[in-house]
Amino acid sequence: MAAIFASAASAGPRWFKGNTHTHSLWSDGNDFPEMIARYYKDNGYHFLVLSDHNVLSRGQRWMKVTVVERRRKTLGHTTLKKYLRAFGEGWVELRGEGDGREVRLKTLEEIRPKFEEPGEFLFVEGEEITDRFGKQEVHTNAVNVAERIAPQGGDSLRATMRNNLVAVREQAERLGRPILAHLNHPNFRWSITAEDIAHVLEEEFFEVYNGHPGINHLGDAAHPGDERIWDIANTIRLAELGGEPLFGIASDDSHHYHGGDVMPGRGWVMVRAASLSAENLIAAMRAGEFYASSGVVLKGVAFDSAGGELEIEIDPVAGERYTTRIIGTRRGNEGDPKKVGETLATITGTEVRYRLRGDEWYVRATVTSDAPHPRPSFVGQRKQAWTQPVREPD
Ligand SMILES: [Zn+2]
Ligand SMILES: [Zn+2]
Repeated sequence: MAAIFASAASAGPRWFKGNTHTHSLWSDGNDFPEMIARYYKDNGYHFLVLSDHNVLSRGQRWMKVTVVERRRKTLGHTTLKKYLRAFGEGWVELRGEGDGREVRLKTLEEIRPKFEEPGEFLFVEGEEITDRFGKQEVHTNAVNVAERIAPQGGDSLRATMRNNLVAVREQAERLGRPILAHLNHPNFRWSITAEDIAHVLEEEFFEVYNGHPGINHLGDAAHPGDERIWDIANTIRLAELGGEPLFGIASDDSHHYHGGDVMPGRGWVMVRAASLSAENLIAAMRAGEFYASSGVVLKGVAFDSAGGELEIEIDPVAGERYTTRIIGTRRGNEGDPKKVGETLATITGTEVRYRLRGDEWYVRATVTSDAPHPRPSFVGQRKQAWTQPVREPD
């Protein structure tokens, strides 16, 4: 990983804030894409991936407004009224009368010009490829897709995971465009273990935090939480399989935009890229030049692989205090569950420096504020940031 220390004044790469996992009325979200885009743009996001289940926001799609009455929680009168108030009768398309009244969902291409601004806001087209093996859910976000990818299925869980990634790669190669795939919420219905993720070497990214309250982020007595999954998977990858470590993403997986449990604004990525384009964002993420956040903002993250020093500078909020845990697995400890993903150091304050000893398979950092998360997805949640695993060259 290159040094990616950011200074506000410097030209060149900038930090871009984005959410790669969002649902709208195109699948099971409960608002119109324009309303959702407005929320994200107004809240300081630079890019947004609308990632509906097995569908792109393309083609003619009319929804009955009677559905409104029956599905108040998902599409109520209030929803349509809010949409009309925000975008006007000249924009909103309605047809029919009475029980036959319908509203048209706009396509991504139609709404792009309303929001996109160079360097300020970008949509990246996405799909949540929503597959399962038996009762195990395999959800993979494809970011910057150009054609819908049908769930590929498979004759085992791992084959199902792999087949969807192969389909993403096939499209990327055929169309000559970068498409980033990330595995979503492994603990949803306790579907996917750390061992599964480790062994599917095609997985490069997974959600270390997903804001949906139903995805078992913290695990339970019998299952590790998402952070622990990350450490177990990366230790297996590096110590047993000679693979590359996975990178961690935070996302909203938002579905509810009128109150409700599955709201936007909980988790996102900060990507340090040369410019706000899908190509540059994906290239930066593949290079590990991003971090996941549920509220903590970093001024910079740098890893000097020659000197073996990890450096993090936190952009503090007045009155908040920060604790950074340096986490990793030392060579030789991979067989000892207590020492897989152990805390190697705990550092308080806004300047974090950690010099690797040289025997670590990898090192990463989790920064935790003492401030409560303003929109918590679990009880007692604090604002956090997760930096990507780094390691010294072999
Ligand atoms: Zn999902
Ligand atoms: Zn989702």
